[in-house]
Order: sequence, then C-alpha cells, then structure tokens
Amino acid sequence: NGSRISDRITPSRCIKRKTARLMKQTTPLLVDSFGRFHNYLRISLIEKCNLRCTYCMPREGIQLSPKSSLMSAEEIVEIAKTFVIHGVDKIRLTGGEPLLRKDFASILAQLSTLKASLALTTNGVLIDRYIDDLKRARLQKINFSLDTLDADKFNTITLRSQFKKVRENLDLVIREGFETKINAVLLKGENEDEIIRFIEFTEKHNVNIRFIEFMPFQGNSWDQSKTVSYTEVMKRVHAHFGIEKVLRLEDAPNDTAKNYCIKGFTGSFAVISTVTNPFCDSCNRIRLTANGKLRNCLFSDKEQDLLTAIRAGESIEPIVQRALKLKKAVRAGLDSPETFDNYHNHQTNRSMIKIGG
Ligand code: SAM
Ligand code: SF4
Repeated sequence: NGSRISDRITPSRCIKRKTARLMKQTTPLLVDSFGRFHNYLRISLIEKCNLRCTYCMPREGIQLSPKSSLMSAEEIVEIAKTFVIHGVDKIRLTGGEPLLRKDFASILAQLSTLKASLALTTNGVLIDRYIDDLKRARLQKINFSLDTLDADKFNTITLRSQFKKVRENLDLVIREGFETKINAVLLKGENEDEIIRFIEFTEKHNVNIRFIEFMPFQGNSWDQSKTVSYTEVMKRVHAHFGIEKVLRLEDAPNDTAKNYCIKGFTGSFAVISTVTNPFCDSCNRIRLTANGKLRNCLFSDKEQDLLTAIRAGESIEPIVQRALKLKKAVRAGLDSPETFDNYHNHQTNRSMIKIGG
C-alpha cells in the first residue's frame, strides 16, 4: 500500500534484510563483498544518440570516444561469453541509442547463441527496422523510453521531433507481442501531470509503465527539486483512482521497480525510486560501456578496463573480480540522502548517455 511507504528508507537496513537470501546463489567471480551475485550484464553498444533528452545528454553534448577505442562486435561477444560462463543469464543491450549501431543485427544474432536471455532498452525511433532480427534472436523484453504522450512536450524533452514515429513504433512492438515496458523519467513541472494519462494507457494495453525518478549525472543539471518522488507519484495515483483500486503487485526478484496495477486494467505500472528509496540491497547488475569499461554501479566513477586486456590477449577474469570486490553497499558509497543529493558529488561520474542506463 503506497500510502504507508515513507519518502526514504535507510539503505543499510535493506541490505541486511536481503543479503542472506542472495548469498545462497554464489559463484565466486560475480559475487561482491556483500554476497550479491551479479547475473545481469548491461552492455552499452554505442555512445551516440538520435535524441537529446535533457535529463540524459548534457546541453553542451559529449566528447565521443575515438572509434578505435570502442568495442567491436567480436570484442563485445567475447566479453559477454566470459560473463555467461560465470553465471550471467541476462544481457541487456543499451546505449546511447543501441539501434544506431550499424552492426546491431549481427551483434544480436551472435549474442543470441549464448545461454542468456536478451533484452533491449531503446528510444524506439528505429525499432521498426529490427522487428524480424529481434524475433529471430528470441529477444522478448523491450524497455521503450517515452516520457510523454504529447507531441510538443516530446520535442521539448528530447529536442527532436520524432514523436509520431516513436508512437507508431510503440504500437508496433505491443502489437508484435513483445514484453514491453515504457520508461518515463518524471520531471517536475514538465510531465508529472501525465502520470494518470500514462496509467490510463494500461487499461487496454498490456504494458508496464515505469515512472523513473530523475537521477543525477554529470552535465544534466540535476536538482532534487526537479525529481518527482515515489511518494508523490503514489499520492497522485491514490487521489485519482481511489486507494482501494490501486493494487500492489509482487515484484520480481532483483526488481528495481515497485509494481502496481489498477483493478481491472490489462497492464500495470511501477516506480523506480533510485533517489528517494534505493534498491541496492538486491542489486544484480553490472555494466559494460561502449568503450569496454566495466562499471560496478551506475553512480560510481571507478571503472575497470576490459577492452585493453582483451586486445592484449589477457584474461579479463581478475579484472572482473576486482570490479566486484570494489563495489560498495549502496550507490557507490553515496549512501546518505545528504551525500547523494549533493550534485557536486556526481560531477566525476559519466553522463548517463555514456554509461548506458
Ligand atoms: N537510448 C536508449 C533509451 O533512451 O532507451 C537507451 C539508453 S538510455 C541512457 C536508458 C534509460 O536511461 C532510458 O530509459 C532513460 O530514460 C534513462 N535515463 C537517462 N538519463 C536518466 C536520468 N538522469 N535519470 C533517470 N533515468 C535516466
Ligand atoms: Fe538518447 Fe536514451 Fe539518452 Fe534520450 S535517454 S538522450 S534517447 S540515450
């Protein structure tokens, strides 16, 4: 019941609660010092994007890595294979915009031969070109980023006028039967008034709308006051639909979202509350950037270089192990609201577009 959930939960309390259960699944390489087993690898395929979402892409743009320091398709597959050997069973492709990569279909096909399920995070602009490739690769899970259902607002948020194409493509992936989640980053004064409209979309559509709290990264002018919190979302939802119609759903293990549905609706909705209510205690994610750096946390500025090792013909396993051992309990050590909410503490981290969300 959302009305009973406080604005912030002390992260350290959460860690104690769930660590014991996660300890049971250990395989040594991908287990961190807190017993968390990392079976979920997120690979950024590219730093470039065809949108300019203001919460993600710094206004001044980003310094792109030279092409020679980006992973080739072969290098991506080689690194992914090592992770799968050690227990990764889910791989998400992200970016930048992953579908901008010219060899996307080939990377997808090669990864589909590994023993891991595949997922994709995309802004949807180009997805109509890849429907058959995605099906052939048995990729079913698509996170489709869409922050507004209004064309003008889309232009303001993404700085590009691709709304029509993106809406058509959203309908397409739903029609084609992909397991679709819509990622909407909530921005105070910009799209928070669309929370109810998005949830109403789930009445007839079998999608999961995930409201994401705006997170701080280098160059995105984050400010706590621009974040729409989990509690604020639930207040609006309860006020509109009535508390008895809002049902709390069971979250999947390691889920970053708190899931709900409206009684009688086909789809569901969720809130990802990284800022006000972190979920680090059950974190199973590890990230690989497009230039081959391993990141143990979204908020950490420490990276381990896998690509140089691969190119030198060295084993990446000791490097992976080091990355896992260095992982902090909560949000890269920014474990109190005071340290996390200080935007200065995020300036040495990459911008989101160069991490791969
Ligand atoms: N271009 C693809 C897309 O937009 O889906 C994949 C990359 S994008 C960086 C991945 C996800 O990160 C998107 O759902 C986006 O909304 C989210 N994201 C980016 N910046 C964010 C921020 N500052 N706070 C919260 N989520 C953010
Ligand atoms: Fe591009 Fe995705 Fe970032 Fe938007 S959120 S700028 S679509 S990478």
